[in-house]
Amino acid sequence: MKVRVDGGLCQGHTLCAMAAPDIFALRDEDGHAYAVNEEVPAGKEDLAREAARSCPEQAVVLAH
Ligand code: SF4
Repeated sequence: MKVRVDGGLCQGHTLCAMAAPDIFALRDEDGHAYAVNEEVPAGKEDLAREAARSCPEQAVVLAH
């Protein structure tokens, strides 16, 4: 599973990083989230889905 954050949609609510701190981090410059690793670590797929659900902007994009 791959994950990325759509920088045009992200508003920096931090919810994704709270749901899945191993997968998302926030940039110091603009407070927007990014995926630490494009490939979701094995066993963390549910966390990635949870983060996608928790993002109010639908900025977390998952792909298989
Ligand atoms: S929850 Fe969504 S809008 Fe908020 S920081 Fe994460 S990707 Fe950005």
